[in-house]
Amino acid sequence: MDGFVTRFAPSPSGRLHLGHAFSALTGWKLARARGGQYRLRIEDIDRTRCRPEHEAGEIEDLRWLGIDWDGPVLRQSERLPVYAAALDRLRAMGLEYPCFCTRSDIAAAARAPHGSEGIIYPGTCRHLSAGERAERMASEAFAWRLDVAAALAVTGPLTWRDHEAGLIAADPLKGGDIVVGRKELGVSYHIAVVIDDAAQGVTDVVRGRDLFEATHVQRLLQALLGLPEPVYRHHVLILGPDGRRLAKRDGAASLASLRAGGATPADIRELLPPLPDPVRERGRNYNSGAIP
Ligand code: GLU
Repeated sequence: MDGFVTRFAPSPSGRLHLGHAFSALTGWKLARARGGQYRLRIEDIDRTRCRPEHEAGEIEDLRWLGIDWDGPVLRQSERLPVYAAALDRLRAMGLEYPCFCTRSDIAAAARAPHGSEGIIYPGTCRHLSAGERAERMASEAFAWRLDVAAALAVTGPLTWRDHEAGLIAADPLKGGDIVVGRKELGVSYHIAVVIDDAAQGVTDVVRGRDLFEATHVQRLLQALLGLPEPVYRHHVLILGPDGRRLAKRDGAASLASLRAGGATPADIRELLPPLPDPVRERGRNYNSGAIP
């Protein structure tokens, strides 16, 4: 028993596929081998993409794989006031600004290369005057963006610890001023995820390498909101036949269709890369490693 707590945090926008199975099993195996805790979180803030039947299907997929979890299932759609309070706090610190840009405005204005999360916001609305902001807020839809440079001036330089890569110097500026309050939802993935990792007592975030770059700004949000800093393990991604990361549209790799075709949970494990060996990892010092 070493206090290890991790989580699996799917969005209920379809059935789970082999990539989810690998992610869920990796964290579960570590938690169980270390006498730690394994939590489940349903990331369902985007009600246009998420459906209760997908949540039920994902839970069925996890149970079929033999995965169990500790404590209640946390549903992000039930926690919107908690996220709103955090956004208010950042706003009171002067670290947010309203952004009126549409997707096409941003695409037209952005000269910067596309980052892992798409086009990097060029900062257009950061420069609006207080008067123009107030006037446009009264009549236009807007998102709240984090002024990342101003936020970094508050926190100073930050690092995060990655299981594979060692100590990483956080560089949230490279992702631009991210949205912390989406136009139609009021909140965003980044805010919800850091608040909930803390609320669920997560010590180790186990997730795919597609979210490695998101960690830079999530570390910044943790520091701003006074949340504890977990260790990160960004595991390899499972690729489809086209060499691209599996997505929910890749029905052939869904656990439900593999199961319908006669696959057992043991067959699924055979299809996946080896899971971590917690015995070999015991005693590994995640604090070591130079800042690259
Ligand atoms: N909900 C995210 C997804 O399904 C995962 C978020 C995370 O692990 O931080 O990709």
